[in-house]
Amino acid sequence: MIDKLVIANRGEVALRILRACGELGIRTVALHSEADADTKYVRLASESVCIGPPAAAGSYLNIPAVIAAAEVTDATAIHPGYGFLAENADFAEHVEQSGFIFVGPAAETIRLMGDKISAIDAMQKAGVPCVPGSNGSLPDNADEIMRIASDIGYPIIIKATAGGGGKGMRVVHTEAALLNAWQLTRSEAQAAFGNDTVYMERYLEKPRHVEFQVLADTQGEVVILGDRDCSMQRRHQKVLEEAPAPGIPDEMRAEMSERCANACRQIGYRGAGTFEFLYENGEFFFIEMNTRLQVEHPITEAITGIDIVCEQIKIAAGEPLCVTQKDIRLQGHAVECRINAENAITFLPSPGTITRYHPPGGPGVRVDSHIFNDYRVPPYYDSLIAKVITYGENREQALQRMSGALREMVVDGIDTNIQLQQRIVDDAAFRRQPLDIHYLERQLSS
Ligand code: ADP
Repeated sequence: MIDKLVIANRGEVALRILRACGELGIRTVALHSEADADTKYVRLASESVCIGPPAAAGSYLNIPAVIAAAEVTDATAIHPGYGFLAENADFAEHVEQSGFIFVGPAAETIRLMGDKISAIDAMQKAGVPCVPGSNGSLPDNADEIMRIASDIGYPIIIKATAGGGGKGMRVVHTEAALLNAWQLTRSEAQAAFGNDTVYMERYLEKPRHVEFQVLADTQGEVVILGDRDCSMQRRHQKVLEEAPAPGIPDEMRAEMSERCANACRQIGYRGAGTFEFLYENGEFFFIEMNTRLQVEHPITEAITGIDIVCEQIKIAAGEPLCVTQKDIRLQGHAVECRINAENAITFLPSPGTITRYHPPGGPGVRVDSHIFNDYRVPPYYDSLIAKVITYGENREQALQRMSGALREMVVDGIDTNIQLQQRIVDDAAFRRQPLDIHYLERQLSS
């Protein structure tokens, strides 16, 4: 049903989608900005279209340009990847109204989950555990807000309903700081997202980030492909992920999977998606749902043997899932390190020409990357240049293979975070057990 697919993204994920299309016998149209003309995936695609200037606002975020490219190339479907337009409900709507298949859920599902208050409300109705909080937006009344906060108990976190990318949140430890923090978060939210609606949650002090991967087809079949631990974060950005999440009892994993699957049925979910939770003292608390493919999807592919991108495209074409829940076995352990072009001390992006590139290899090693010798990392986009994924029979072996892979990897000419990743993977405390979401920042500041 899909014979030609537009890849509305760039970098490693463009290459990832291209590979899936190759496997499915689907022709591809690579869309690129002027800065990305000379890339591996543009050369490998069946066709390519330049959609605008380097700045993403004029190219990768330019909805009319993306749709026009699909029209002139006579494509059937559009895959948004992650980031850029992937969670833009208006884009999904435009795509379908223009007669193309959007590889993702329905626009109204993206809208429902994109607003954190409506997402939490939907999850509570579906029986998914959420963080105790204000159950809706905060009223415009100081006394009421103080009462809600003291009912929840300090510390609390004030969050923008339209927030994303770790922005629009503020932790409050005392009543004295509450009203000021509320006003500040509101005005920041208005400036950043054009929406000043905020809500309040209990602030969990030492949680882990544990998420569940879902695939749902249009026939109503829903499967949960296990969980991932993404607690190694800096500034709310994931740095290293592993699957399955260590130390989660099997019965609990099964129960959470069932709850997530039920929630998908209730909201009529379609495609690939992720339920994100904070996990503390043996309890799960929903924080948000991502209605798209995630950067860390390969670790789930490694432990389930399921190609999430191929399944995503087949679901969009109306085909049934290749498996049911009882076919899913989580086998072994996988780890992913995100390799970024960034300065090791300042963490500022480090664009420039890669003078030497040697990817690692060997048993259980996968590298998803669009870079090559003499590739120029442009300064305009996200700094992710490669993902190293290792697989082992158990966590110990997967981490040991990762340690070797990082030692083997060479990216010269620009700064990268390879050494930081090596430090995390070889960290004795991390080797012993999974750690909370603040561990990495504590280490970096010590
Ligand atoms: P975004 O959409 O900006 O990614 P999330 O709601 O997913 O926002 O939260 C991002 C991160 O903020 C979480 O991974 C966690 O580190 C922190 N966080 C969010 N809510 C809470 C909370 N209630 N308690 C503690 N930390 C939180």
